Amino acid sequence: MNNFEKLDRIFVPQLDEILGVKLPVLNDGFIRVVDYMGSDESIVQAARVSYGKGTKKMSEDRGLIRYLIRHQHTTPFEMCEIKLHLRVPMDTWRQWIRHRTANVNEYSTRYSIAIDASQKTKSNEWRIQAKDNKQGSEGFFPIEIGDKLTDRESDLQNFAREIYQERLSLGVAREQARKDLPLSTYTEAYWKVDLHNLLHFLKLRMENHAQFEIRSYANVIGNEIVKKWCPITWEAFNDYVLNSLTFSYQENEILKKIYSGKKQEAIDIADSFGWLKIVDTRFTKNIERMEFEEKLDKLGIDKPWE
Ligand SMILES: Cc1cc2nc3c(=O)[nH]c(=O)nc-3n(C[C@H](O)[C@H](O)[C@H](O)COP(=O)(O)OP(=O)(O)OC[C@H]3O[C@@H](n4cnc5c(N)ncnc54)[C@H](O)[C@@H]3O)c2cc1C
Repeated sequence: MNNFEKLDRIFVPQLDEILGVKLPVLNDGFIRVVDYMGSDESIVQAARVSYGKGTKKMSEDRGLIRYLIRHQHTTPFEMCEIKLHLRVPMDTWRQWIRHRTANVNEYSTRYSIAIDASQKTKSNEWRIQAKDNKQGSEGFFPIEIGDKLTDRESDLQNFAREIYQERLSLGVAREQARKDLPLSTYTEAYWKVDLHNLLHFLKLRMENHAQFEIRSYANVIGNEIVKKWCPITWEAFNDYVLNSLTFSYQENEILKKIYSGKKQEAIDIADSFGWLKIVDTRFTKNIERMEFEEKLDKLGIDKPWE
């Protein structure tokens, strides 16, 4: 009996076209694909081991992938892997590295001289601290203030670099000379991750609440890399994860009342959850209520309490 089944290696021509190409991010960062394994086809192939061969038509492959994403049957997505080369400011990298389910190798500023590039902020890019969200920003500074902030940024980065160079030229060990480099200094890393964990990263980092800088990288990975690499998965991920809305028990209870035209009952329910406390004629800050209001806005539904 012949137990040898010849398999063809999977290639994705659209992704091959950008293999090694530096996709720019921020003023001096980039992401490039170094290597990859698998494609939409590999996800289907792995899923069929559990579901049996079944049908093999393209439309059915799409249906299967969409089913897997909807039902969080995630392991088939771990069959695909991608290796990226990143150039990213250290403060962004600090957020990135919290994603533990990847393999990482970072440029060593102990071994080599730190990369002579810093993330620079244009005059019109300085964000104002948000009032309601301690972790966020809202709006931009006027250009006259932005000009000043950008000049001072430049002074600081140049000064820090000058002192770093001075230490190196005096023979201070690189591992110590680097200690005062600003977090805007770029670092580089190889980052290898499977598609399941990459989608988790994208879900968290493409989201509005993620900081602009890491979101910029996540958008490039999603829209310029994963979209080419696994287009069916990307479409399903957009439909069922990125652009979907989920509702808690409380939100469902209020929605039911809104839809049956019982506005006062909707208000009473929200109030019973403690969402509508009033101080000085204004609602106090309640994050659950505010998040629900965002969802109502997306759906074009008026808030019953306004
Ligand atoms: C908007 C935003 C704000 C944030 N603010 C802060 C902050 O203020 N302070 C802060 O410290 N962090 C903050 N984080 C980081 C956040 O708490 C997570 O550490 C980060 O997003 C990585 O998520 P993760 O653990 O799900 O991802 P990964 O590390 O990639 O893990 C993926 C999944 O694997 C599983 N997993 C991995 N390791 C373990 C483990 N050891 N035990 C159990 N399960 C595991 C979990 O299910 C996890 O979701 C923030 C993140 C975001 C997106």
